Amino acid sequence: MKSYKDLSKEELKSEIEILEKRYNEFKAQNLKLDMTRGKPCAEQLDLSMDMLDIPAVELRKAADGTDCFNYGVLDGIPEAKALFAQMLEVSTDEIMVGGNSSLNLMYDTIARAMSLGILGSTPWSKLNSVKFLCPSPGYDRHFAICELFGIEMITIDMKQDGPDMDTVEKLVSEDDSIKGIWCVPKYSNPDGITYTDEVVDRFSNLKPKAKDFRIFWDNAYCVHHLTENPDKLKNILKACKDAGNDNMVYIFSSTSKVSFPGAGVAVMATSTENIKGIKKSLTIQTIGHDKINQLRHAKYFKNLDGINSHMKKHADILKPKFNTVLEIFEGELGGKDIASWNKPNGGYFVSLNTMDNCAKEVAKLASEAGVALTKAGATFPYGNDPRDRNLRIAPTMPPIEELKKAIEVLVICVQLVSANKLLNQ
Ligand code: PMP
Repeated sequence: MKSYKDLSKEELKSEIEILEKRYNEFKAQNLKLDMTRGKPCAEQLDLSMDMLDIPAVELRKAADGTDCFNYGVLDGIPEAKALFAQMLEVSTDEIMVGGNSSLNLMYDTIARAMSLGILGSTPWSKLNSVKFLCPSPGYDRHFAICELFGIEMITIDMKQDGPDMDTVEKLVSEDDSIKGIWCVPKYSNPDGITYTDEVVDRFSNLKPKAKDFRIFWDNAYCVHHLTENPDKLKNILKACKDAGNDNMVYIFSSTSKVSFPGAGVAVMATSTENIKGIKKSLTIQTIGHDKINQLRHAKYFKNLDGINSHMKKHADILKPKFNTVLEIFEGELGGKDIASWNKPNGGYFVSLNTMDNCAKEVAKLASEAGVALTKAGATFPYGNDPRDRNLRIAPTMPPIEELKKAIEVLVICVQLVSANKLLNQ
């Protein structure tokens, strides 16, 4: 297909006419399709159904004799720690098992730093200025935590190998009000990018001016592969230790999209010194998390092989959905120079970049045809995409026929908005 940029005004006009006709045909169908959030579909949730059939008597005693029905155990039963230590490639004493949500762990970690500081540092809330670096496009709920606590967000460009490390290195070494950075290092939300070894090395060798600077390494998609040849992510905790920066990273993950969102198990991995610091206040916050669910997960998955073979079943369901999106993108947008997108090897999203200053208009047009997309701009701090071009596509939830329709509407909208823009230039 010819690039839109090479079309004459007349050619653009006739293209718009065809697109408008197609758009109106979809509009007449009164569609109501929701593509807003990256939730698993019902079929994926069914995969873990058997876990709930484990008899209660088998969920009572942990390996060390702990009665899981009773109070106690702040940081997780041994079986759960062992499972997550394998998944995150750390040792069991670097693991803290939490409740059902890793986002909750991240929120608590920031809230704790705000009110109590980190390992004896001044509580962030007592400082005049606290800033976070936000590689973007990124995860809107990370940004929402910063916004809630009044932490100033600095947008960092995402490149194909990870965040723009030249800028990250420079800023953290110069400004001691920069206290953290949000990272989704594997199959990133939304770009689907896995940070290269070089990027991980540069992270572990950061020389932050603030001694309480922390990398928030949200490894939400560590086992969520879509191909037989999964991306590999270098171990950040080990790299930090090798660089003498043992305390610089907090790793987060959960089984939300392995077993059940809202009823999975969340986990944090960090240095033993950080864990000791966290436990001082955690022990006031709770007597312990849900050990029955921890044991249920440990018994069901057994080990990392168990998790990996379960994740293959997820991939079997998700792959055709991702392929549907990519095929329609390629077929309708390929070669037209009006959009670009990533082909992720895992994770939950396809990230679509339109021409500059088109994303909001595309989302509006799609919504008028009954297709709800994640709000344009949501993938940037303060909801402000400076180029107004990024759209996060979440293909997992809708049944494939609905997904196909929604993406067809979307690509028509992208073409319509682009053609009109070029016509009026
Ligand atoms: N981190 C990222 C990058 C996510 O995409 C999501 C879910 N969309 C979460 C965290 C939420 O994780 P949890 O369910 O463990 O709170």
